[in-house]
Amino acid sequence: MDLLMIVNKENRLSKKFVPIDLVEIKTIIPGAVEVDRKIYLNKIVAEKWMELKKHVEKLGYKIDISSGYRSYEYQEKLFNKFINQKGIEQALKLVALPGTSEHQTGLCFDYEKVYMEDDKIKSSLNELDMEYKIVKDIAHKYGFIIRYPKGKEKITGYSFEPWHLRYVGCETAKIIYENNITLEEYKSKILIK
Ligand SMILES: [Zn+2]
Repeated sequence: MDLLMIVNKENRLSKKFVPIDLVEIKTIIPGAVEVDRKIYLNKIVAEKWMELKKHVEKLGYKIDISSGYRSYEYQEKLFNKFINQKGIEQALKLVALPGTSEHQTGLCFDYEKVYMEDDKIKSSLNELDMEYKIVKDIAHKYGFIIRYPKGKEKITGYSFEPWHLRYVGCETAKIIYENNITLEEYKSKILIK
């Protein structure tokens, strides 16, 4: 599997693309379920995520996964639901077209901070949260990058998403982190040289 694959509007995955080595992963975030009410990730990505999560916990903070692998069919259903509810124009703005979501690779996921409120488990994340500040600076040690960073919207084609982590392997993640670049820039500027 190509750990550096880019998936977006210009680089679509086919309906047949299902990642290898998907494993089920636990989360305590309520409502965070996608395929058959479970969350799946590529096996290596799942292992590295557990290590990252432990590291954050050791520092006294709690995070968990809110979204993992999404199948083509899932994205298709979601897209059609939005068309029915809000019309095609809104659907195109709010939901990724089937085949254009990186979540279909099994190599990325969304995480959030977890906390208690009114005796209920709640979750959220924004760039001011300590959890994000920590993850931003240690994720590369586990092979992850902030896939859609702030200020790189024109390159990635996506708004800043502090919660979306993508696995690229430790070597690549370190270079991307240290040079403050995106996966797109890494592939076009560093890999080609
Ligand atoms: Zn995401």
